[in-house]
Amino acid sequence: MRKIKLNKRKVLYSASFILGMTLFSVNANAEDHNDGTSTSLNTINENDTTITDETNEQQQELQFAKVLSSVELVTPETLEFTHLSLPVSQYTYNVKQSSNKDYAEVQIGGNTYWVKIDNLTASEEQPKKLEEKRHLTIKTKSKFTVYASNNNQSDVLLEGTTASKFHVLDIVNDYYVVEVAGVKGYIPISQVNLNYKKNSNVEVATKSIKVYKSIKGKYKTIGTLKSGAVVKVTKSTTNYHQIQIGSQRYAIPKKGTIPTEKSASLGKLVKEVYPVTLKVSSTNYVYSSKGNKIGTILKGQSITLKGLKENKGIINFMGKSGYVNLKYYNHSNMVNPKKSITYGRYNYYLRVIAQLYPEFTEIEKIGKSVQGRSIYALRVGNGKKEILMDGAIHAREHMTTNVLMEMIDNYTVAYRKGAHFAGYNVKSTLNKTSIWFVPMMNPDGVTLVQKGINSMDSKYKSTLKKYNHGSNNFNRWKANGRGVDLNRNFDGLWKYLAYTPKSFMNYKGPSAFSEPEAQALKAFVQRHHFKMDLSYHSSGQIVYWFNFQKGSNYKRDLKLARNVARITGYSVVPPMYYRGSGSSADWFILNQKKPGLTIEIAPYAGNGPVPHRYWTSVWNKNKSIGLFGAKEASK
Ligand SMILES: [Zn+2]
Repeated sequence: MRKIKLNKRKVLYSASFILGMTLFSVNANAEDHNDGTSTSLNTINENDTTITDETNEQQQELQFAKVLSSVELVTPETLEFTHLSLPVSQYTYNVKQSSNKDYAEVQIGGNTYWVKIDNLTASEEQPKKLEEKRHLTIKTKSKFTVYASNNNQSDVLLEGTTASKFHVLDIVNDYYVVEVAGVKGYIPISQVNLNYKKNSNVEVATKSIKVYKSIKGKYKTIGTLKSGAVVKVTKSTTNYHQIQIGSQRYAIPKKGTIPTEKSASLGKLVKEVYPVTLKVSSTNYVYSSKGNKIGTILKGQSITLKGLKENKGIINFMGKSGYVNLKYYNHSNMVNPKKSITYGRYNYYLRVIAQLYPEFTEIEKIGKSVQGRSIYALRVGNGKKEILMDGAIHAREHMTTNVLMEMIDNYTVAYRKGAHFAGYNVKSTLNKTSIWFVPMMNPDGVTLVQKGINSMDSKYKSTLKKYNHGSNNFNRWKANGRGVDLNRNFDGLWKYLAYTPKSFMNYKGPSAFSEPEAQALKAFVQRHHFKMDLSYHSSGQIVYWFNFQKGSNYKRDLKLARNVARITGYSVVPPMYYRGSGSSADWFILNQKKPGLTIEIAPYAGNGPVPHRYWTSVWNKNKSIGLFGAKEASK
């Protein structure tokens, strides 16, 4: 292969030309090139110390060049004009000697062209290495311009007057990035022929586009899609892409989108297990499962929460699973307290609440049950003082979970709104004293009552059945997942508590705090300084409050019990002077020297859960108790 030989002096003169030297320099340059010698020029550059000896001239091949004068590219070998022109520019291109001594070879958009060497001048710079981030080929319209940046006021790198193909290196807002002889060039998307096929993916190639949803036959804006988002479109009309998913119809403008080789950003929509209706309280980002920002969803819409994934909520976004920060959403009603609340539902709701209201709630897993179910605590409020409310220590008394969950439901809604509930300013009350709710202390037992023996870990099935005296009906079950009555397992003078036979209730366990559920609450209490413990049970419409406290504590606790009794209409049971208790509230009284009330919410219902028909009355009696307790504690 023949090579163009150039010496350093040539490079020097070329640079001089660029800097605006006289015409003579141009001629000198041309001569230099033509006869391959520079002897005649030495006199002109006597003072040039960079060149000292003719014989030391280094010969080098033209690799990096600038365009001296506008030139049209030709096809290799055949030298046909291509209708693609390189204007004069400051940019240094990668060039290579072609098989024809008069032409250099350049790579543009994945194609090889030749360019007349006379129009080039060697450059001492060199282009940065380019990275091909895309696998796309485009065809331009018959007239197009390649710019030096993504701005149509920037320098022109290439002009074309014929439709041309380019490999695409990348896509930035409204431009395809292509290679122009080693330099990044930008073709406006509007100058490219875009062919959209039915049921194919399109990508947003502008900053953002609007998303419309057909609601009662009219398209309304529901959000936006951001640059890089990819959606599968059903079909394309003159100005819009349509997306049909089931009976839902969406549309996005074609302008700002391109056909793409990429796969869709959002995955298949998941089906909700526990539906929760939410309202978008402020416009917020929608993310892909990988955490990329896909678009936004507009304030004011109602959505159904489909599920949670780590710290994000899953919503229906354009018929797919979109991931959002739930703090930009409100709920108005989550819990249906007229039905039994399962372990799965309760812990899902708590996690949802914590994600909806991070500014005033906090969820903590305080331990695990015998069979590995999680025990959660949820703080509501930012008060430095704290009270504790727990429920469902006794399995069949799981309506107490409903009471606490319904409090959480209503208190959080009112707090975010700045509203009153049951006569209390919720936000100001809970910003003085926070409530820590532990709504389901005994998740194994509750599950056993609600779902039967087959929901239990097989390791414990025979024990549970034995403790249940052979019966498969576990409606009467009060104990935990291996037959210990948790409210006989706390050390409220446990050693004085008489042993009763192993059964569905009252068995106090081999030692105080032998059970992980009791240990979890104990450790949780000891990490805090609760001003009181309101422990919810369900049998007898009674408030228990005493465990040998004396003096001012006695008076304080009796007063509190009487106040709770006044609000609920329940009876205060007078002090019972027999030693020995395993109840959580009694242990709390002894250990924390603070009031611990055991609140029994319903008339005695026999050996089974409280019938749902009592719910409304139970709720009306108890709905303010959390706020009352918080207010008392802040005194
Ligand atoms: Zn109980």
